[in-house]
Amino acid sequence: MQHFPIFLDLAGRRVVLSGGGDAALAKLRLLMKTQAGLTVFAPAPAPEIAAWAEAGRLLLHRREMAPGDALCAALVYAADEDAEKDARTAAIGRADGALVNIVDNLADSQFITPAIVDRDPVTVAIGTEGAAPVLARAIKSELEARLPATLGTLARIGKAFRKAVEALPAGRRRRDFWADYYFTEGPRAMDAGGAAAAKARLPELLDKHARAEADTGHVAFVGAGPGDPELLTLKARKALDSADVVIHDRLVAPEILELARREATLIEAGKTGYGPSTAQADINALLVAHAGGGAQVVRLKGGDPGVFGRLDEEVEAVRAAGLGWHVVPGITAASASAAAIGRSLTRRGRNADVRLITGHDMTGFADHDWRTLARPGAVAAVYMGKTSARFIQGRLLMHGADRATPVSVVENASRADQRVIATTLERLPADLSAARPEGPALTFLGLEPRAACAALPEVQAEELA
Ligand code: SAH
Repeated sequence: MQHFPIFLDLAGRRVVLSGGGDAALAKLRLLMKTQAGLTVFAPAPAPEIAAWAEAGRLLLHRREMAPGDALCAALVYAADEDAEKDARTAAIGRADGALVNIVDNLADSQFITPAIVDRDPVTVAIGTEGAAPVLARAIKSELEARLPATLGTLARIGKAFRKAVEALPAGRRRRDFWADYYFTEGPRAMDAGGAAAAKARLPELLDKHARAEADTGHVAFVGAGPGDPELLTLKARKALDSADVVIHDRLVAPEILELARREATLIEAGKTGYGPSTAQADINALLVAHAGGGAQVVRLKGGDPGVFGRLDEEVEAVRAAGLGWHVVPGITAASASAAAIGRSLTRRGRNADVRLITGHDMTGFADHDWRTLARPGAVAAVYMGKTSARFIQGRLLMHGADRATPVSVVENASRADQRVIATTLERLPADLSAARPEGPALTFLGLEPRAACAALPEVQAEELA
C-alpha cells in the first residue's frame, strides 16, 4: 500500500486551490462538502466559481498564486491543468508546509483524492493508487446503488443515541441492537415516517433488546472451501460476519480470514487433518473455553469440515460441555480439484463410486483396499498424498494396476497459484518430486486433466502438453 487512507479533519482549516477550469470545479464540488475554509486563485475563474465566491462559500483571488499564499494551509490543490503552472503551485504549497496534490499527476502528488461515496457521516473512500480508475468508478457506482440514501440520516440519529445504548452490556448485545436499528427497524421506520419516526423508534428498540435473553455461547463448524473466497457459502460468510472468535486451520487462506468481523479474535489452531502432532485436546479445550464464556465461535476448517477434518472429535467435546453447535458444509478439495481439471468425479460406465482417501494416517502411510483401487476405471482422490506417492504407486502396481493409469495432481486448487501436474501411475513419484508442490495438493488416481480445459492458465497447459 503506497497510499495510506485516513480521514482528515478539515473543520476550520485552510485549503488552497489554484485553477479556474473543469479540474478546479470538480475538486471544489468535493471540497465544499467539508467545513474547510477554501481559497481559490484564478485570474479567469469559471462562472460557477465566481458565483460560489459571491455566495460566500469560498474566497476568490483573481490572480496567480504567489509565495506565501498557502501559509497555514492543510492542503493545496494544483488544478490549472498546465504542467508548468501546476509545478509552480506545488512548489509554493510545499514551501508553505502544506500537503500538495497535482490533479492528474500521481507521481508528483503527496496525496490523492479517492472516489467517494457520501452518506455523511458514513463516508466510503475508494482508491486504486491510480492503477485502475475504471475499477474505482465501478465500485463507487455499485456502492451508491447498494447503500440506501437514508443511511447518513440513520447514522446521525444513531450517533446521538450511543450513550443510551451503553445500558446494554458491551459486545454482542450492543452489536445486535445496532444491527437491528441500521438494517431492519431503522430503515423501516424511515420509510414509514421519516427521520422523526426513526428517532422515536430507538428507545422502544433499546427496551426490546434490554429484555432479550443473555448470551449463550455457540460453535459453528464452518467449511472454508479450498481457498477462493468466492467459493465460500453464504452461510459461511454470515457466520464469519458475526463471529466473536474464529479458530482456524493453518490451511485457511488469508483472504478468507479477512472476511471475519473486524473485532473478532483470530486464533490459528494446529495443523490440518490427520496429522498425529495436532494437539486435538488443546483445540477442543479452546472451543469449550470460548463458547463456554458466551462467545459465538466459528471453527473454520479448510474445504469441508467433515472430510479429514476431525470434525467428530470436536463436535463431541462441544456437545459434552452442553454447548450449542451446528455444521456449515464447504467445498472439499476433491470437488475443487475436479473442477480444476475439468473432469467429473463419477461417470457412467467408468466409475460408479469415488473414494476419498488419505495418504497417511496417525500411524504412517495409510492402508486401503488396494485391489479395488487398482481396477481399471477406479477413481480416488488422495488427500495429504504428497509424501506417500511412491508407497501408493507400489501398492497399486502390486495389486495389478495398469502402469499407464492416468494420475493428476492439483496444487492450490481454486487459488491464484493453482497448478496441475498431469502424469501416470508409473511416473507419479518422479513427476511429483520434479514439480515439488509446496502448497496443499490433491492427487487423483484414474483421472487425467481435460487437455482443452479453458480455465487452466498457460503454464498448466504447457505441463499438460
Ligand atoms: N477438510 C479438507 C481437507 C483437509 S486435509 C477438505 O475438505 O478439503 C488437507 C489436505 O486437503 C491437503 O493435504 C490436500 O491434500 C487437500 N487440500 C486442501 N485444500 C486444497 C487445495 N486448495 N488444493 C489441493 N488440495 C487441497
